[in-house]
Amino acid sequence: MAGFTHLFIPGPTNIPEQVRQAMNLPMEDMRAGSFPNLTLPLFEDIKKVFKNETGRVFIYPSSGTGAWEAAMTNVLSPGDRVLMSRFGQFSHLWVDMAERLGFEVDVIDCEWGTGVPLELYAEKLRADKAHRIKAVFCTQNETATGVTSDVAGCRAALDAVNHPALLFVDGVSSIGSIDFRQEEWGVDCAVSGSQKGFMLPAGLGFLSVSQKALAASRVATHRHCYFSFDDMIRTNDAGYFPYTPATQLLRGLRASLDLIAEEGLENIFARHHRLAEGVRKAVDAWGLKLCAKTPQWHSDTVSAILVPEGIDSANVVKRAYNAYQTSLGGGLNKVAGKVFRIGHLGWLNEVMVLASLSAAEMTLLDCGVRLAPGSGVAAAIEHFRRTADMPVAKAA
Ligand SMILES: *Cc1c(COP(=O)(O)O)cnc(C)c1O
Repeated sequence: MAGFTHLFIPGPTNIPEQVRQAMNLPMEDMRAGSFPNLTLPLFEDIKKVFKNETGRVFIYPSSGTGAWEAAMTNVLSPGDRVLMSRFGQFSHLWVDMAERLGFEVDVIDCEWGTGVPLELYAEKLRADKAHRIKAVFCTQNETATGVTSDVAGCRAALDAVNHPALLFVDGVSSIGSIDFRQEEWGVDCAVSGSQKGFMLPAGLGFLSVSQKALAASRVATHRHCYFSFDDMIRTNDAGYFPYTPATQLLRGLRASLDLIAEEGLENIFARHHRLAEGVRKAVDAWGLKLCAKTPQWHSDTVSAILVPEGIDSANVVKRAYNAYQTSLGGGLNKVAGKVFRIGHLGWLNEVMVLASLSAAEMTLLDCGVRLAPGSGVAAAIEHFRRTADMPVAKAA
């Protein structure tokens, strides 16, 4: 088929041309004397994206899920009590992993479309006078429902009762795209992956840890091998890895970190917010609702859009792909058939978002959703023009 296939799923995301080119090079020797010239600056520069000043970042040849496992198996001990909440497929899978790894999981089930229940967390922490809870978990951005939770609020709940538990954050679909401040928010383990805000192919798992998490790892007793912090530290400090690193991806990461630094994190967050608002205006204009219950939960990286009763969202996703070469995200687990998702994170701009909206709009019409053709796109256009640097205004 002619033309681009459009990728608007919440990961993998679109890869900037500079990043793609940076990965197109011959294989290199990961034990060469010059290899640390690549890796040592990477270890330093990636910390800036997490706003981690005093800790360190591990870069695993895994997807984000591997970094989840690395965090839990290095920092905790079997049977440790952990406080988690579940409100979408990704928070569900993290709970499932914690249970399968043998932790005692205190899980709070929340309505899908909401996020981390701060009040209930505060209550549980207040009641835990003996400090049996060793870690508190927060999925910052639930990619299945398009819900963003308040990480700083989790820190505040811990501090309010001087609770020493570690704070774990899943930032796979948020870090590098929406506000995240590891040092300031006292996050001990922050997990991310290469194929979302970092604009790379899948294949790198990032785990950014605090000194407190490193100290905990020295006394924790859960078994681990491939993900061992100690093995990584021993080799990383000299610029190497305990096993073959994904050298192309590291070259890509160099390019991606350069692009992030060039645009500036605060500008990136503002861009994501503005683009997300355009999507939300379109959804309003269509007369549809987001899965996220209230604006407090709105995600600036992914929108999960509820389809009207009687329409199967799986057909929407299929139709968009087959008829318009456009990948939208489907509904997962409890919201299967009920939502479709537009991923609006990473390397994208207004016109790309408008492309996703026009594809979604044509598809919704094809699937029998009653909406005014052009209404969503028009609403987004108005928003983008209203919030743009207007050349006319500048000249005046
Ligand atoms: C994508 C995603 C994951 C899983 O990451 P993989 O790289 O697919 O292993 C975990 N959590 C969230 C919030 C995600 O969006």
